[in-house]
Amino acid sequence: MEEKSDTPRTDAAAQFVSHFGWQVHADFARDLERELATATRERDGARAIANDRDAMVDHRDRALTAIYQRVDIITQERDEARAEVERLRSTFVHCHVRGSSGDLCAVCGLDLRDKVHTTATEARP
Ligand SMILES: [Zn+2]
Repeated sequence: MEEKSDTPRTDAAAQFVSHFGWQVHADFARDLERELATATRERDGARAIANDRDAMVDHRDRALTAIYQRVDIITQERDEARAEVERLRSTFVHCHVRGSSGDLCAVCGLDLRDKVHTTATEARP
């Protein structure tokens, strides 16, 4: 199997010159050099874009991590507050006393149906 050349354009452009060997025209070499410069600029531009994106992704990841940590703290604070509300509510359970304003308790001001009330009673005289 014949191995494929990695310089096919140069192979095609090369001419054998007596006493000098294989040579290419200077214009051909200049074209290749210009193409190399263009490719190098494009590569450097693409690297810069990739680096910027990497930096943005890193920044976003750090921000998300901070947000998740804050959410965890807030969630824990919420759970603690709910537990405290339940504890206070359970120590505050009492018979509802119907107030003069209707369905609000004369003792605590909460609705008759609020679970701090064990039962409803009639209004105090
Ligand atoms: Zn009450």
